[in-house]
Amino acid sequence: MHEVGITRSIVEIAEKHARAQGTPRVKTITVEIGALSGVVPEAVEFCFEAVSRDTLLETARLIIERLPGRGRCQQCEAETEIDRFTFACPKCEAFALETIQGEELRIKEMEVD
Ligand SMILES: [Zn+2]
Repeated sequence: MHEVGITRSIVEIAEKHARAQGTPRVKTITVEIGALSGVVPEAVEFCFEAVSRDTLLETARLIIERLPGRGRCQQCEAETEIDRFTFACPKCEAFALETIQGEELRIKEMEVD
């Protein structure tokens, strides 16, 4: 489960920011996870508690915002919702889809004390 490593990185980055701000603890952390990122939100949720133990995020609430995948066809310019298995434009069937959303994996915001 590669989400353990990913969650650890999220916690490390958040903790570094919190320390830089001189805050004793993080109250909430909001993480954006795109549907095309290959990261399973449930798995991140599942290991967050264990990973955040003994850090400034120990009592923090994790909020995950899921972003659906979106693509734009470079041929007909249609925008459409896509998943990891969408390869052709649903409108014109060209293999010209450019991903415009869904690969995100980032900390959106943090609430600190
Ligand atoms: Zn198209």
